[in-house]
Amino acid sequence: SSFDEAKLPEEVLECCKGFNKPSPIQSHAWPFLLDGRDFIGIAATGSGKTLAFGVPALMHIRRTGRKKRLNPLCLVLSPTRELAQQIADVLCEAGKSCGVSSVCVYGGTSKGPQISSLKAGVDVVIGTPGRLKDLIEMGFCCLKEVSYVVLDEADRMLDMGFEPEVRSILSQTCSIRQMVMFSATWPPSVHQLAQEFMDPNPVKV
Ligand code: AMP
Repeated sequence: SSFDEAKLPEEVLECCKGFNKPSPIQSHAWPFLLDGRDFIGIAATGSGKTLAFGVPALMHIRRTGRKKRLNPLCLVLSPTRELAQQIADVLCEAGKSCGVSSVCVYGGTSKGPQISSLKAGVDVVIGTPGRLKDLIEMGFCCLKEVSYVVLDEADRMLDMGFEPEVRSILSQTCSIRQMVMFSATWPPSVHQLAQEFMDPNPVKV
């Protein structure tokens, strides 16, 4: 498979410029995600999964086509600060060529700069569940327009005890939403979460 086959606009494909062809998880995920399907990927870090969900996220934002935005349209939840930052680096860079803005929110650091970014208005919020829930409760982040949600390393997020935060956060997103879940393993707790918050028939790869 090739990038041409994906039929993506040039400004979105800009982030793939350095690569020869889509990684396997990308060529599997893109057709379904661009078609609006819910998607479960059992994939490890290093597989190119960030752009597997990131490119369709850019397309999702592009399709809605509003110029000035206050509330985010896409949300990515990650178990750790390091992973959240890694994802944010990729999405910030990928968003440049298509005018998509992202912010990363995580604990262990002051809230001020994160609040300022949220106030300025962003398309994508990437964050760890604890800090995001705090910022929501303080009134600095509203998820009601979030219609594209990614749970990265879902198994690890639940293992770390973030299940209440994840549930609370998901229930505040738009009821009509597309969901993507990545997990290295598939324990009953993750299965249960998928059953509750995803379409009855998500694509599983
Ligand atoms: P990830 O799994 O998203 O953390 O990506 C792991 C690494 O693969 C990153 O350094 C990416 O820049 C790289 N990568 C992403 N997509 C591709 C691709 N299509 N071909 C080669 N490398 C890629």
